[in-house]
Amino acid sequence: MAGKKWVYLFHDIDKAEKYVGGDWDAVRGLLGGKGANLAEMARIGLPVPPGFTVTTEACNAYQENSKFPDGLWNEMLAALAVVEKDAGKKFGSNTNPLLVSCRSGAKFSMPGMMDTVLNIGLNDESAKGMVALTKNERFVFDSYRRLIQMFGSVVLGIPDEAFEVELDGLKSSKGYKSDTDMTAEDLKSLVVKFKAVVRKEKGFDFPQEPLEQLKLATEAVFKSWNGKRAVDYRRATNIPDSLGTAVNIVTMVFGNMGEDSGTGVAFTRNPSTGERKLYGDYLLNAQGEDVVAGIRNTEKIETLGGPLPEAYKQFLDIVAKLEIHYKDMQDVEFTIERGRLWMLQCRNGKRTAKAAVKIAVDMANEGLITRETAMNRVTPTDVDTLLHPQFSVETKAKAKKEGRFFASGVNASPGAAVGQIYFDADLTEKMAKEAKQDTIMVRPFTKPDDVHGMLAAKGILTSEGGATSHAAVVARQFGVPCVVGASSVQIDMTKRQMTTNGVTVKEGEWISVDGTTGEVFVGKIDLSTPSFEEQTDLLTLLKWADEISSAKGMRKAPRGWPTTGMQVWANADYPKDARRARQYGAMGIGLCRTEHMFFETSRLPTVQKMILAQSDAERQEAIDILLPYQRSDFDGIFEAMDGLPVIIRLIDPPLHEFLPSEEMLLEEVITMRVKGQTKGLAEKEALLEAVRGMHESNPMMGLRGVRLSIDMPQIVEMQVRAIFEAASDCTLRGITVKPEVMIPLTGIVNELNWIQPRLERIAKKVMKEKGVDFSYKFGTMIEIPRAAVTAGELASKAEFFSFGTNDLTQMTFGYSRDDAERSFLVKYVEQGILPKNPFQTIDRAGVGKLMRMAVNDGRAVRPSLEVGICGEHGGDPDSIEFCHTIGNNYVSCSPFRVPIARLAAAQSALKHKGEPVVGE
Ligand code: ADP
Ligand code: MG
Ligand code: MG
Repeated sequence: MAGKKWVYLFHDIDKAEKYVGGDWDAVRGLLGGKGANLAEMARIGLPVPPGFTVTTEACNAYQENSKFPDGLWNEMLAALAVVEKDAGKKFGSNTNPLLVSCRSGAKFSMPGMMDTVLNIGLNDESAKGMVALTKNERFVFDSYRRLIQMFGSVVLGIPDEAFEVELDGLKSSKGYKSDTDMTAEDLKSLVVKFKAVVRKEKGFDFPQEPLEQLKLATEAVFKSWNGKRAVDYRRATNIPDSLGTAVNIVTMVFGNMGEDSGTGVAFTRNPSTGERKLYGDYLLNAQGEDVVAGIRNTEKIETLGGPLPEAYKQFLDIVAKLEIHYKDMQDVEFTIERGRLWMLQCRNGKRTAKAAVKIAVDMANEGLITRETAMNRVTPTDVDTLLHPQFSVETKAKAKKEGRFFASGVNASPGAAVGQIYFDADLTEKMAKEAKQDTIMVRPFTKPDDVHGMLAAKGILTSEGGATSHAAVVARQFGVPCVVGASSVQIDMTKRQMTTNGVTVKEGEWISVDGTTGEVFVGKIDLSTPSFEEQTDLLTLLKWADEISSAKGMRKAPRGWPTTGMQVWANADYPKDARRARQYGAMGIGLCRTEHMFFETSRLPTVQKMILAQSDAERQEAIDILLPYQRSDFDGIFEAMDGLPVIIRLIDPPLHEFLPSEEMLLEEVITMRVKGQTKGLAEKEALLEAVRGMHESNPMMGLRGVRLSIDMPQIVEMQVRAIFEAASDCTLRGITVKPEVMIPLTGIVNELNWIQPRLERIAKKVMKEKGVDFSYKFGTMIEIPRAAVTAGELASKAEFFSFGTNDLTQMTFGYSRDDAERSFLVKYVEQGILPKNPFQTIDRAGVGKLMRMAVNDGRAVRPSLEVGICGEHGGDPDSIEFCHTIGNNYVSCSPFRVPIARLAAAQSALKHKGEPVVGE
């Protein structure tokens, strides 16, 4: 490894950039996010204290042998010499000492990592020198006591309490409220006490040698990469272990030199609302993390101009410059030393979903970023969050103020939940079902036999496990808000209570869980559901999304294939769903299921008569009664979707689903016989016989879909008549209809050959009767592997394909979904046998391959073939991306997921802009 460069001065960023090949992401990988941005700020001329970064490669080399790699220490000393020159001070000097901070900084910000050590280089002698130099004894000993405490706890591993006890003891003996009440003499005595703590805890003295301090601190940062906190955090967030952390050595600047000094943190825009207004806090005469530690009441950043007008003005210029440079909202740290401003950190600021949308839209409108960039600044999860009940930022802030914040963990499944806690699945379920309580299940971790409790719960909290733990996987699968791995929470199963930092919540008491952010609160927090139409920024963003998706040339494809991105349609069975879908931006109905209409109580008896009819005439009689019902259902949907396509699926489930169950009938018959009731007994017995006659051992693969239509064509003939009568009536009322009739469960083209012409004849006949003309389509679902494999043949008949990915997944894997999800699926995902639940995210290698084949073969025969997907996958961003790459015209999902799908479709279009869709 000789010859590798381990250390880069901030002003050597060009060299680092060259070494990694110019890519900024790779620079961040080498120098860590903090180091890369410090160097970048220096490069664009902002005031950054001189410093250097030890690379992540050095960290990784250290991990191999548990010692500094060859050359590292010498490079650090050389860099230090340059820093000394830049700063005009000398490390280890007693008259004009240079002090530095030692800061960890991985590629991705990691709260699990080592804390920073400030004021490295101070010792008994240099402290004296600094007093002489600054004439500020208080400041010097304030810095010194901070060093001993930070070094003691962070580098030497002494529990922080050992120092805090001394500090509190001193303050209370003097009756002080605040740290700033302490005098120079107090701080001096504290230094003595802290040194004694080190001696007592470690058996050796606090190291006086500055270079030893520096070396040990650097080594501690390296070691912290494999500390438990950091490892847990990486597991939970899928950050690879191989990245390593960088170490930043930065010249100290002092915010604790008096009332003309201070330190603060700020966001360039409001991180919770997105408002374009500086947002932050500062403290005068303070250092480091005093602002976030909450030991003193901070001041609002906008008041900084009062005490320090020059520095504030400069700060405003700098943050404006930073936003323009990084083209994103920045989170910055700064310190003012005797009126002089220094920037100590900047990074893209974390933000709420609401702020993410507003900032993206605002920045695009300001011309800072393009609409395309704005599209990628928001995640589908953000949109999801904005459509679900949530805790508003204000109510959460209020709860925090009231001291009700309890713990935080991994945000495993989004959404907000409020409920009473129970510590086992049975009780959670029982209290939910029997006592009708809102419950939250709390467990150290969950296992497959806990699932019933998780399903009954409004929310889930675990103290162990990460983003792919059983609890997390199940919660996401069923959409239950969930926080996992809240490691500060101690669960006591015998006392039936949980505790964090001395706060205890007992079984049956209320908590509030924010699965979107990973926060947990004691007691109830109000939920709010924002209305879609009022979210104007989101509406704007989604309008842009549609513009991106509908732009030509997004996909390169043969003639007839779509070259735009995809449209988003919705699954809707009723007019009210169709209206909602349209309001959410759906461009069509991709699946209208007709059987729901049969289940309505007023219609079910007629449906049953139709099923049990002994003669064709009897059956026709029942069907004639059902016709007007169906017609009016379709009429409402066509009206709601005026101008847009509506795909109506003909009857799909096996007929016995419309009849009472065999067990129930048997019980009734036996009871009647035992009681000697004769009235109605014969009918019941006949019904029982009929149900028995229709029994199927595997209904999923039995007489349903197109098979049923061929067995009993009268039903679908009635449905097609109803569809075309409604469509004709609507046309006569001036509504534009685009009906598409979908035949389910086709497995062989002969099925279409048999049924489709009969139905098309009816369509034509109705239009003739009504004297109207409109265009329509007949097509089929692709949900049986054989259909996908023979798609070329099917396309000779079908004008459109709609992938029913739920059934297609079941049949391709040979899993029955209900059984799989109840028994082995979670384990498969947990063990990594399946990367994801294939019922949530399309299995690209298997099911996806069939889909791609079907599209290619289908369009080879019929280039204009319309292709969509109507399974639940239609609302899943990863599956949406896949559908884009195989050439779908649209995805169809539940109305509530339409906004999410619109964003995901646009993001897919951008990600694959101009790529060809065929060419396996
Ligand atoms: P974190 O990653 O936890 O934010 P930092 O390394 O940014 O840790 O440092 C913690 C605190 O110490 C921050 O408030 C930071 O601004 C401050 N700090 C770090 N280095 C210096 C320095 N050289 N001079 C003054 N303050 C510093
Ligand atoms: Mg920290
Ligand atoms: Mg920081």
